[in-house]
Amino acid sequence: SSSTADLLARRRRLLAPTYGLFYEEPVHITRASGVWMYGPDGRAYLDVYNNVPVVGHCHPQVVEALAHQAALLNTHTRYLTEKPLELAERLLATFPSELATAIFTCTGSESNDLAIRVSKVATGGTGVIISEWAYHGTTETLAGMSPSSGMGRLGTHVYTVPAPIDQESASQFASRVQACIETMRAAGVKPAALLVDTIFSSDGVSADPPGYLAAAAEHVRAAGGLLIADEVQPGFGRTGHSMWGFQRHGVVPDLVTMGKPMGNGHPVSALIARPEVIAEFARQTRYFNTFGGNTVACAVALAVLDIIEQEQLITNAREIGAQLRRGLQELASRHPTLGAIRGAGLFIGAQITTGKAETTRIVNALRQRGVLIGSAGRNGDVLKIRPPLVFKQEHVDQLLGTLAQVL
Ligand code: PMP
Repeated sequence: SSSTADLLARRRRLLAPTYGLFYEEPVHITRASGVWMYGPDGRAYLDVYNNVPVVGHCHPQVVEALAHQAALLNTHTRYLTEKPLELAERLLATFPSELATAIFTCTGSESNDLAIRVSKVATGGTGVIISEWAYHGTTETLAGMSPSSGMGRLGTHVYTVPAPIDQESASQFASRVQACIETMRAAGVKPAALLVDTIFSSDGVSADPPGYLAAAAEHVRAAGGLLIADEVQPGFGRTGHSMWGFQRHGVVPDLVTMGKPMGNGHPVSALIARPEVIAEFARQTRYFNTFGGNTVACAVALAVLDIIEQEQLITNAREIGAQLRRGLQELASRHPTLGAIRGAGLFIGAQITTGKAETTRIVNALRQRGVLIGSAGRNGDVLKIRPPLVFKQEHVDQLLGTLAQVL
């Protein structure tokens, strides 16, 4: 196989400079299994970063479902096939009964872009409220709703509120959303939606208790707008509370988007909606996505849902996540560099009190010791901890032991 230096040189020559690599010393990977990724020399890296392989890398049941369906039939939703219906039934059964219709897409960005389109058509509004350091995707529309993407400007009629990442900002979240609506009103803009990642991951992971979203949604709805829950990060049980992040908030959104973990690495995503919201959209327009809901994608997503259930991964996320948070809190009591430990289940944000440079040092030092994590937050000073949900106590111990060394 090619050397790491050779791959880096080819990559620089062949791929646009828009591509970025993680870590000061990029990680060269040739295979992966469960919570482990392996380099060409067989070196094992503990994956605590990647929110895609939710049931573990290359889970045999996912591989089997993919191979079986790929050998049998792969086609789109212009033909009558059973798999998209099976997937819609299984998926919708995990939602409150008000959310009863599905549209399949291929990426989180496509789901969010569609959700924005639907909300504008359904409400006749154009204003969208997001959190200050949100990331929602890569289309032109969403780049203007993703301040953390580095595009540097908001889209037309996009308004921001500080994310609820500590008690102060959480307690003011709803009134800041209301203030935003008043700003819109003064500008003659009608709200279409409040769009939030229900764990506010790119903002630095939200604080508990998550009681603020219901009040914010009420304000938005009173002004004629909708609540869009972006579940690309917290969805599929990661919070250890329930399947969807919004369920922790005690609120039922109008539109819910998902992606990343849905296919455990294969491009599968969806928009789930209140049927009455979609009705007006469907009256005015058609939506067809060639690969959205393709038979193989559906088979893969069904396997992921099976595994989450069979291996009780939501319970595992809750229990192992609690162990991990306890361990991090214990570390924080000994190391002043480590501040607030936020999040839920196996989605944890650990505040670094000494700024971005130190956060970057910690992330890279962990990587040198074979533990892969990331960073987040407006100031780049939050450790982002987000392992596959098959994470076990021994992996928690390895992560905590290595972090203790690095601190
Ligand atoms: N929403 C959130 C919260 C995300 O983190 C991401 C991806 N990082 C997206 C949407 C976009 O998903 P995708 O990259 O699959 O288009």
